[in-house]
Amino acid sequence: MVTWTKRRIEGWGRFPTTEAQCARPERWSEVQSALQDRDGEHILAHGLGRSYGDAALLTGGRVVLTRRLDRLLAFDPDTGWIRAEAGVSLEEVNNLFVPRGFFPPVVPGTQFVTLGGALAADIHGKNHHVHGSFGDHVRNVELLTADGRIVVTDRDHEPELFEATLGGMGLTGLILAMDLRLMRIESPAIEIETVRVENLDHFFEVSAESAKWPYTVSWIDCLARGRHMGRGVFMRGRHAPAGAQPGGALLERLKKFADPILDVSAFETNWLLNRFSIQAFNETYFRLHRPGTETAVVPIAPFFFPLDMVRGWNKLYGSRGMMQYQPVVPHDPERRAMRGVLEAISKSGFASFLAVIKEFGDVQHGGLSFPRPGVTLALDFANHGKPLHDLMDHMDDIVLDAGGRLYLAKDARMTRDRFRRMYPEWQAWKAVRDRWDPTGVFSSDQARRLGLVGDPVPTRGAKAVAS
Ligand SMILES: Cc1cc2nc3c(=O)[nH]c(=O)nc-3n(C[C@H](O)[C@H](O)[C@H](O)COP(=O)(O)OP(=O)(O)OC[C@H]3O[C@@H](n4cnc5c(N)ncnc54)[C@H](O)[C@@H]3O)c2cc1C
Repeated sequence: MVTWTKRRIEGWGRFPTTEAQCARPERWSEVQSALQDRDGEHILAHGLGRSYGDAALLTGGRVVLTRRLDRLLAFDPDTGWIRAEAGVSLEEVNNLFVPRGFFPPVVPGTQFVTLGGALAADIHGKNHHVHGSFGDHVRNVELLTADGRIVVTDRDHEPELFEATLGGMGLTGLILAMDLRLMRIESPAIEIETVRVENLDHFFEVSAESAKWPYTVSWIDCLARGRHMGRGVFMRGRHAPAGAQPGGALLERLKKFADPILDVSAFETNWLLNRFSIQAFNETYFRLHRPGTETAVVPIAPFFFPLDMVRGWNKLYGSRGMMQYQPVVPHDPERRAMRGVLEAISKSGFASFLAVIKEFGDVQHGGLSFPRPGVTLALDFANHGKPLHDLMDHMDDIVLDAGGRLYLAKDARMTRDRFRRMYPEWQAWKAVRDRWDPTGVFSSDQARRLGLVGDPVPTRGAKAVAS
């Protein structure tokens, strides 16, 4: 038996928010009971809620909070394979294994995600161009499917189910556990080089030059216009050799810059982040980096997870929440789509505080997995309702024209029609999903909005501001 309790749930963007009957099972038998005792409602897994929009929400449905499924089941120190339950977080993996010389093969910009959430979104990291996405490092998955069975699926056994589960946004079943291969590292430090990038063409030059670095990403000033459009700070990094100690003038300057920012996390306000403060931040951050290349050795956490140091930073966007916009577009020597998107933002009067740009490598999965060869941009906006949604619709058209797509883990608003054009594989994916779940047991508000499973949610969460 499980106990269902009505709770408000939200994603990291805090838009939309909704209510659902939630259970917090600790054992697999309790998860099976939850599946049985759902009174005919849809059901969905919810990890650490770090997807931004409605991917982990299920209005009026049954939501399984997976965080107590947090056992490490096996570890082979010779190969780095771990077997762990889906509610284990990357933070827990890091705390346990970094001191032992292992690191997850792919990490996102926060370590507060569960392994289940990482696989369901087939997350990518700064090393996509060399290591692919999270699913590339998972050998098998134990999945509770709609008929109540626990199916062990891998690339040989029920391979279609395995593929559909990587990036399947929780819609093929509830991931209970997986085998994930950690990689060896010699030290808990990263050697970095930062290169001040003067415009978009310069970004692509530096990115091409940096292809052999395992980790690459660039912060971008999304408000810079004209010949400065696309200026930013490119970061490339690699795991440091044994004995390396953090240090360097750049590290000292970055620390001084970051300290006051870390203090603002206690406010739940929307006046701090506006176009003017963002413009001032961008200018200061850009000038903090000297023209050319600088080097430093930095600890792992601030390199990979800088935002985790500001607990609850999503509240800085105020009660209306925020929205992420993350497209990937194929390579184009003239960078038309990227220029189009950046131009649309700078003309709109909106500004993104956190904007990053990165080139993906060639590895891609089918189904709903996001990464495709090309360039991806991730932007955060305070939720200003309709005018912002109009801007995003306009950017969607630019992305679609270029043959690109949006990341489902960041999405709260894409239309069904645009989704279908961005993810032409959706029908093949749905055919596999429907074979395993013919009556539509697993669903989410996002899946209902996108026409994947179930009817659309009639009314959005209390904060679904549309004016
Ligand atoms: C600051 C920040 C930075 C980020 N950076 C990146 C990045 O660099 N790259 C990237 O790819 N993503 C990034 N993300 C997004 C994040 O990695 C994904 O949204 C991830 O899925 C969140 O994991 P979670 O445990 O919080 O899952 P949730 O948000 O709770 O759920 C996400 C999806 O996974 C499903 N799910 C969760 N657990 C299970 C399970 N056990 N079984 C089946 N389905 C499950 C849910 O149903 C839902 O569809 C970032 C997010 C934040 C907040």
